[in-house]
Amino acid sequence: PAAAREIGALTPMMRQYLEVKALNPDALLFFRLGDFYEMFFEDAVRASELLQITLTARAKNAEKVPMAGVPYHSARRYIAKLVEHGLKVAICEQVEEAGSAPGLVRREVTRVITPGMVLDEESLEPRASNFLAAVYPGAEGFGAALLEASTGEFFSLEAETSQELVEALARVEPRELLVPEGHRDSPETAFVTSRLSKMPAVAELEKAAFEPARAAVYLRGHFAVQSLEAFGLQDAPLATGAAGAALRYLKDTQKTAAAHVDRLSRQQRGGHLLMDESSRANLEVLRTLRDGGRKGSLLGVLDRTATGLGARKLARWLAAPLCSLPEINARLDAVDELSRRSVWREELTGILKEVGDIERLCGRLSLGAGNARDLRALAVSLAQLPRLAAALARCESGLLKTLAGPLGALPELTQVLLAAVVDEPPVALKEGGFIRPGFHAELDKLVELSTSGKDFLLKIETRERERTGINSLKIRFNRVFGYYLEVTKSNLHLVPSDYIRKQTMVGAERFITPELKEYEEKVLTAEERRCALELELFEQLRAQVVKEAPRLRSAAEGVATADALLSLARCAAEYGYVRPVVDDSEVLTITGGRHPVVERMLGAGEAFVPNDVKLDSGESQILIITGPNMAGKSTVMRQVALTVLMAQAGSFVPASSARIGLSDRIFTRVGAADNLARGQSTFMVEMTETSHILHHATRRSLVILDEIGRGTSTYDGLSIAWAVAEHLHDKCGARTLFATHYHELVDLAREKPRVKNLCIAVKEQGGKVLFLRKLVPGGANRSYGIEVARLAGLPPEVVERARDILRNLESGEFDDNGKPRLARRGAKASAPAPGQLGLFGGGDSGPKLAPAQQKVLEALQATSLN
Ligand code: ADP
Repeated sequence: PAAAREIGALTPMMRQYLEVKALNPDALLFFRLGDFYEMFFEDAVRASELLQITLTARAKNAEKVPMAGVPYHSARRYIAKLVEHGLKVAICEQVEEAGSAPGLVRREVTRVITPGMVLDEESLEPRASNFLAAVYPGAEGFGAALLEASTGEFFSLEAETSQELVEALARVEPRELLVPEGHRDSPETAFVTSRLSKMPAVAELEKAAFEPARAAVYLRGHFAVQSLEAFGLQDAPLATGAAGAALRYLKDTQKTAAAHVDRLSRQQRGGHLLMDESSRANLEVLRTLRDGGRKGSLLGVLDRTATGLGARKLARWLAAPLCSLPEINARLDAVDELSRRSVWREELTGILKEVGDIERLCGRLSLGAGNARDLRALAVSLAQLPRLAAALARCESGLLKTLAGPLGALPELTQVLLAAVVDEPPVALKEGGFIRPGFHAELDKLVELSTSGKDFLLKIETRERERTGINSLKIRFNRVFGYYLEVTKSNLHLVPSDYIRKQTMVGAERFITPELKEYEEKVLTAEERRCALELELFEQLRAQVVKEAPRLRSAAEGVATADALLSLARCAAEYGYVRPVVDDSEVLTITGGRHPVVERMLGAGEAFVPNDVKLDSGESQILIITGPNMAGKSTVMRQVALTVLMAQAGSFVPASSARIGLSDRIFTRVGAADNLARGQSTFMVEMTETSHILHHATRRSLVILDEIGRGTSTYDGLSIAWAVAEHLHDKCGARTLFATHYHELVDLAREKPRVKNLCIAVKEQGGKVLFLRKLVPGGANRSYGIEVARLAGLPPEVVERARDILRNLESGEFDDNGKPRLARRGAKASAPAPGQLGLFGGGDSGPKLAPAQQKVLEALQATSLN
């Protein structure tokens, strides 16, 4: 802080503050003072703005220090808000009892909460993952590591290009990006953060932590292994560096051993159906474009899970569908079986509803953050697992059967936790009261002592009332005097001589007696020892949980998978989906296909019109879909992409039958959901994405192109669309759906054998358009744009005039500049076909240049322009 130079003038406490702050310069420091967390200097100013709390000043001598504070007991809410804003919060606690040693109480940062390192149950969205992504840029690409602090999931990967990196990260939507020092503002970092639909916060860690050799030593130490081969990291220095940094960041910010991070898996390229981030966003797989919510997204429709574990698993499946037939079919078999057995579904759901978030409970406890409630929740959850295992073991599906195994593996821990912790433990750990009577003999004795002591105090109270005749006499307790007898002023004359006066209040006096002090001693020491013992027992139980972390994680994995499969089965049964045939072919045949989300959103009385789509790389590789605006072109194309995605994620699909040859990648260039924040024009974005598709699509890819070339002039747009379609046909072979309002494009089918035309049927009735939503062979001959404009309420005279102009355009009337000749109605004139406008004009159809202009042009032509 700027005021640090005044350090000499500050109190010892402020000096302590500044020392701690200097060790955590990039975090907002919550400095514990009694019942408050205080912030000072810039931190206070910033926090007061973000949290709307009062900014005050701590005055010392003439120096005024800005200060803002939040009460200790409601701090979580404030911390969550700051972290949501992408800030780090360092929690500095008093680490010794006040007055236990001379001088200032020692204070230390016990935990740093960052957007990617949230453990608090209340701040975590139960149905969403909260990943940290460490990214290590190297000369030949990037290494990345994905770490979920609350669950212990840990992945590493390498990517050749920043685009590939974004695709891998987008699958888990990281909340925080960790980069080597000095990279916070690098172009690569900016690229990555801007392409992710949920922009992550960016943090830096010293370069050395990323250094592969050091990282390898660190990782080997943590996992207690000789080599990193088992994690697939033997020749992946970049991934190793990123993984080392991510783990170090977790351990350093949380100041724990992170025992629940007990495995690390390498994500191989090609293991998943790839989708770039804009395709995933455009198809609204996990969230809608409109408000970023789940409702209205594919996940929103398919997520019928009972647990947060299952919800997160399902989101992961949809974000990264599979490419391996055996894995896809294993899921489909399981969904198939469960979809046919509604009784089993209800039974399984009933059990799952009782299961808590084992993964996060275990994570919190492993990181030293949990309390007795977490132990109890874990116990109750674990107690359900044998029933779940038995139910799953009955199934025929191989996948469901194998899930049963790890679920039954924790009977001892379950028993211990159930026996140890009471049904409804308090939140606080310090005051005891959470260990069940009968669990520990010595504890029982202490509890007995302290409660019987309390009974005895009550007896003293009654006895003294009778002895003195003071009915209002009360035995009370405070921290300063311990137990005392309180007598109101009006009764003071009745106080016996053996009472020892301790304190005079406004309306009463306080007394003690030797007897009272004797019992107080007993009660208080018993209380104290009881709390200490309970805390010790808690630590022992926690240690047992941590020791079982790997098995707990396997069990959680089983619960999550079962829940996700069950959710898909429920959708299959309730929404009328069918099992797709997924195979190695290059075919994509969907009969009676529906859009999974649109069909659910239609109101009563509206029916979704199913459509057939048949694609085949060898025969009908490219479908050109024409039809007026609002006819349903985007809907049908998106539904094809979503159907493929669902099938490869292992889900049934909304159709009456479907055969899907594996896709390696889905590309979409859809609509105008362009990121203007990237500072590119809509057309530029469109062309950049198209170019990406043409460079990367393979014969196995599925390409969805909606209105390519719309962002420029008609002739430019048509030419580009035409050339793109030709390229896909001649060079690439990818199965393609191509929607366009350029009905000229239907002519392509005459030249290219594997291009087929489809259009969406509309009926004209009395000059009006009726949308039939039915896909039929052939091309549309008109665009009906004017009709839609009329429906939108354009004034009749504007609509009429537009019809005129259209007639002229269609008869090819243009002026010398290539502009349509907008002559009076009925006027006849003919003109040459329009030429492409050059950037400088001066072409055949352009205007003549003045001599001075001609000179400029020649000078420009003679210059090598770069
Ligand atoms: P286009 O891309 O041709 O402009 P859209 O695909 O956006 O048209 O469809 C317009 C609207 O029509 C959508 O909002 C949707 O609600 C409705 N719609 C589209 N296809 C169908 C269908 N097969 N059945 C019922 N309604 C549909």
